[in-house]
Amino acid sequence: MVDYGIHYWANDDFIIEDGKVKVNFGNKPALIDIVKQMREEGYRGPLLIRFPHLMKKQVEKIFSHFENSIKEYHYKGKFKAVFPIKVNHFPNFILPLMEQTQNRCYGLEAGSKSELIIAMAYTNENAPITVNGFKDKEMISLGFIAAKMGHDITLTIEGLNELETIIEVAKAMGKPYPKIGLRIRLHSTGVGIWAKSGGINSKFGLTATELVEAIYLLQKNKLLEQFTMIHFHIGSQISDIAPLKKALREAGNIYAELRKMGAKNLNNVNIGGGLAVEYTQYEAYQNRNYTLGEFSGNVIFTLKEIAKNKKEPEPDIFIESGRYVSASHAVLISPVLELFSQEYDEKALHLKDKNPPLVEELLDLYNTINERSAIEYLHDSLEHMESLLTLFDLGYIDLQDRSNTEVLVHLIIKKVIKILKHKNHSDIIRIQEQVQERYLLNCSFFQSLPDYWGLKQNFPVIPLDRLNKRPTRSASLWDITCDSDGEIAFDKNYPLYLHDIDVNSEEYFLGFFLVGAYQEVLGMRHNLFTHPTEFSVVFDEEEGKYEIENLLEAQTILDVLDDLDFDTKEIERRLKQKLDESTEIPQDEKKEVLGQLYVMLSENGYLRTVFKSQGELN
Ligand SMILES: *Cc1c(COP(=O)(O)O)cnc(C)c1O
Repeated sequence: MVDYGIHYWANDDFIIEDGKVKVNFGNKPALIDIVKQMREEGYRGPLLIRFPHLMKKQVEKIFSHFENSIKEYHYKGKFKAVFPIKVNHFPNFILPLMEQTQNRCYGLEAGSKSELIIAMAYTNENAPITVNGFKDKEMISLGFIAAKMGHDITLTIEGLNELETIIEVAKAMGKPYPKIGLRIRLHSTGVGIWAKSGGINSKFGLTATELVEAIYLLQKNKLLEQFTMIHFHIGSQISDIAPLKKALREAGNIYAELRKMGAKNLNNVNIGGGLAVEYTQYEAYQNRNYTLGEFSGNVIFTLKEIAKNKKEPEPDIFIESGRYVSASHAVLISPVLELFSQEYDEKALHLKDKNPPLVEELLDLYNTINERSAIEYLHDSLEHMESLLTLFDLGYIDLQDRSNTEVLVHLIIKKVIKILKHKNHSDIIRIQEQVQERYLLNCSFFQSLPDYWGLKQNFPVIPLDRLNKRPTRSASLWDITCDSDGEIAFDKNYPLYLHDIDVNSEEYFLGFFLVGAYQEVLGMRHNLFTHPTEFSVVFDEEEGKYEIENLLEAQTILDVLDDLDFDTKEIERRLKQKLDESTEIPQDEKKEVLGQLYVMLSENGYLRTVFKSQGELN
């Protein structure tokens, strides 16, 4: 896998050229050059890069596919979409998204009061707002205020008690009213790890009996004309299109039946989100079995058929895809700090005049290994190591012997890999599991890839350069948290190979792609690692050059502590007092130590290690 499966996951957003990952837009800068530019300006540790042009690309793709399908089937309804704020609620995402999609009927979806406030402040003019999730009276009143401000807002109710509150608020606040949507509870369900949003036992939505009751309530309270939308959402990352087709048939029939019951203004079917992102780097493990064209074609065709059969108008279609719109816009870049076996070089070997026989044998294997014997000797050496470790446990060899064992085995592994470098890759694959290298990354998986931790969701990972050289080390990745879950283990089903580098003299960066959906929102400050330093790369449309915008540095240690409600003034005071009282630090050095402390408090908590050879910071 020398191209790291880029054809499966990158959608031509990124390409490999001259051995580097490049942005396939504008004048096609290499990611490594963008990273180096930022590091020269002093930004260290992990970086999160946003690409606003990719936000626009995804929204345009959805609209153009649906518009094509509408044309193809001579469909009479219109297509509209909203972005569900919960997927990425950060201003450096939401504001550029709205700016980039002004030409479209593209609004925002809110699921809480705070999200609704964002939607009311930033939705483009004439673009829709939809509101889902559980609502109290205050949130419903907020929806009425939005309607009075002129927003095209639909409150989708999740249960009959919400409808009762709407009726109450309508009486109190008067017209104009927001539009009303009903979330329907389907008996069909989604598939995959996120498929908990649909089905008869789902958390959300009205049963058939409740729908009938809702129509009756709306009618009685003269609000039926406000009822314009039905909504369903079968779950995120829909991998298979079959359950969606089933859900569409069910929803289409509910739409038609509700109209027949008198809901004459019902003219929108909101199919929720769930469009899947292809995260895979391996042909055999693709995440979805449909294209966007197939998806839009199925939606339009199914609703058209039902409308025809039931002699009702073809409804407008709403979509609330979040993951599909936002995943590709953000890339996490992490410097590699260390390769764990790196310290095992010949200098670390301290052989005695007389070594245990198995250590002598390891030495012999190391000195005589060649291409023909490589695999056999490797296996022998691993076996010897097992025996030597047992001998240590039984007290027969000492710590120096044990250290020599470790060093020799690592030297043999490295030699084998070097010898086999130009041979058939399958020879290396055979030994990969036994000889993996651990790469220590200057980032936190809990903060930046929480779905890996929580759901074992894999994100495409690729080194930013050296892609014209074959990677030879089977790799497991470790973050800098003190948590053993902060590891992406080597998996022989999805093997990751990286380059054998000397971090004392070379820089090496890994990019994690498709991290723009849910990861920042769900990321947590385990070990108090904050969000990485982030910025947007914005291209000039005429010249294709890029500018860095919206730079937001990783939080300083003091800011992080302040967010936790520590009294940071008190912390500073205590540190100073303890320093003053210390008898270990000479009086004339105290000022300098205090200065060092203050500098640290004003930096972020990611590592700033020093290159041994160059004295550079990482
Ligand atoms: C979460 C959610 C979405 C977004 O789902 P994606 O899988 O990100 O497209 C859309 N609608 C509702 C109601 C949601 O809860």
